[in-house]
Amino acid sequence: PTMQKPTEKARPKPEEKPTNPDRIDDKWRPPITVTEPGPTPQTYVVGKKLGKGGFAVCFEGRTQSTSELFALKVVRAKVEQKKMMEKFRTEMQIHAKMQHPNIVEFYRAFSIDAYTYVVLEMCDNGSLTDMVKARSCLSLPEVRRFMIQICGGVKYMHKRNVIHRDLKMGNVFLDANMNIKIGDFGLAAVLADDQDRRTTLCGTPNYIAPEILSKSGARGHDSKVDVWAIGIICYAMLMGTPPFQSRTQQEIYSKLRNLDYEWKVDSKNHIPQDAKDFVAACLNLVATDRPEMDDLVEYDFFKTGVIADVLGRECMRAKPTWL
Ligand code: ADP
Repeated sequence: PTMQKPTEKARPKPEEKPTNPDRIDDKWRPPITVTEPGPTPQTYVVGKKLGKGGFAVCFEGRTQSTSELFALKVVRAKVEQKKMMEKFRTEMQIHAKMQHPNIVEFYRAFSIDAYTYVVLEMCDNGSLTDMVKARSCLSLPEVRRFMIQICGGVKYMHKRNVIHRDLKMGNVFLDANMNIKIGDFGLAAVLADDQDRRTTLCGTPNYIAPEILSKSGARGHDSKVDVWAIGIICYAMLMGTPPFQSRTQQEIYSKLRNLDYEWKVDSKNHIPQDAKDFVAACLNLVATDRPEMDDLVEYDFFKTGVIADVLGRECMRAKPTWL
């Protein structure tokens, strides 16, 4: 569709994470080969840089023995802030327990000198952000396929009492077969039991749920923050930008508090009612009224209309020809 986009200058960058003193220098590279210490050493040949995040840098890593390709996520192990390291340990502990076809597989982690290496499943095709940027918006059959896979992964997490808390297009990766792989468990939390509530402020402005914003903190927030984020992701894939996109963080928050979003549609882009209903159910201001993941996967949105079965990597850049 012909979405009106803010100019480059005015466009906010809400997906950027705050810089922190322990992040790895932009020019830093690991040695050409990295050998895991221990009784079953594995040597990885380090390849090109895949990207950098808040405090990690990712590189390609191929095992010397089998030439298998992995993503090596590197973090400075001797970080000054103890809190940061604790956070990273929690991330690894949670991530290591997650085994699902739509969650980035965590293989192993080891430390050499001042750096910790995490060996992850390789996601060749980047993230949903890359795809939506290149395509401006996605087709309904693609969105249905991606949403089913995202919901499958999140349902699995919630069943195991894990909430991701930072679901956004930039943390949803695509493998070589254009299957969804949810990654970056940096803000994830394990709920001790269903009653447990987390009250820390976390997430990214465009995807943040209203109950996280409310300062009272009395109710805290739980797994329903992920359901909110799923609604945002679905809208963003269909329309090309998140529903509350604005110039400033404050404007985003004020719009979301009022559920101030609309389905701007032109003649080329028809959004069916069941897709709008799905998004509206997720974007409920009252967290407890949002559907559980078990209910969400049963929505009509997934039952009517075409679901893309096989997708090639060409669709990262252009609409599939069969659509
Ligand atoms: P951080 O936890 O610091 O935010 P991320 O997990 O987001 O770091 O990773 C930083 C970047 O590395 C990502 O934006 C992406 O470009 C790349 N990346 C991360 N994980 C993978 C992966 N499994 N496969 C391919 N690229 C990845």
